[in-house]
Amino acid sequence: MKHLSHKKLIVVLSFTLLAMTAIIITFTILKLTHINNQPENRTEEQTTEEKPEENLEEEPEETPAPEPTKEESEAPVPIGGNCSMKLGNLMLINANYTVDTNFIANRRNELIDLTATYGIKEANQWNGTPMLTAEAGTHLNDMLNAYSAENQGHSLSTMSCFRSVGTSCGRLCAATGTSDHHTGLTCDLIDTTYGSTLDTDYLSSHPDWQWLHQNSYKYGFIDRYVPEWAGSSMNEPLNVNEAGTTGYYETWHFRYVGIPAATDIATGKYNNGAYDSLEHYLKATGKINSLTSGDC
Ligand SMILES: [Zn+2]
Repeated sequence: MKHLSHKKLIVVLSFTLLAMTAIIITFTILKLTHINNQPENRTEEQTTEEKPEENLEEEPEETPAPEPTKEESEAPVPIGGNCSMKLGNLMLINANYTVDTNFIANRRNELIDLTATYGIKEANQWNGTPMLTAEAGTHLNDMLNAYSAENQGHSLSTMSCFRSVGTSCGRLCAATGTSDHHTGLTCDLIDTTYGSTLDTDYLSSHPDWQWLHQNSYKYGFIDRYVPEWAGSSMNEPLNVNEAGTTGYYETWHFRYVGIPAATDIATGKYNNGAYDSLEHYLKATGKINSLTSGDC
């Protein structure tokens, strides 16, 4: 009995020892697995979770939606069929640079009444109210006041400024669409104490034209049709050529271009010191490439 009991006891103890060893090994394995899983997986999980969040937040900042690019260098659209309109006060209207009737009608709506605004008189009632752009009008008023101040007892009147229609009287007049009077920057001027007829030879010998020829540029106006740029004889066909001739000789016709350009033209900056034509000035300064094509 004692021997068997002793044997049983050894078997039980052995099983117990094995069982305990198995439990310890199992526990150790489980613990190690747990430790390994916890920190490393968490880091990876955080990384993989944060990455997409960062991307979602940063992507719009890093690559903002591109703004639509505006085309600033669009091809100039001729206004009224005349590409020189982009030059503003230096716009050119002549036999080669013409305008259509829509331009003329729209231009009229941009002008001011010189009689109502400044009390400037129109010498020929059949011409209607004298009209210019507001900028040209205020400069004309300054010029006429200066003329009266420097020529005691004298004053200048207009003899037609803006015109909606041209005339067909040959060399002395411009047909509709070709007249400098369509610009709203031009007036024919006359001192009626010297007569009321626009006669070049008669007026050129009188102080009104001489004063205007010498001083108008100070107010932004030019003597638009000086004899030196008239081109061929008055009896010959209209001559507006590539050299810058105007085809006209008119002592009464003054055109606003702004003081800087008027100064350059009157002092001949691009014409060896002699009075320039608007046509020649525009080509000499590169503002117009061709004077005969009508294509700037
Ligand atoms: Zn005129």
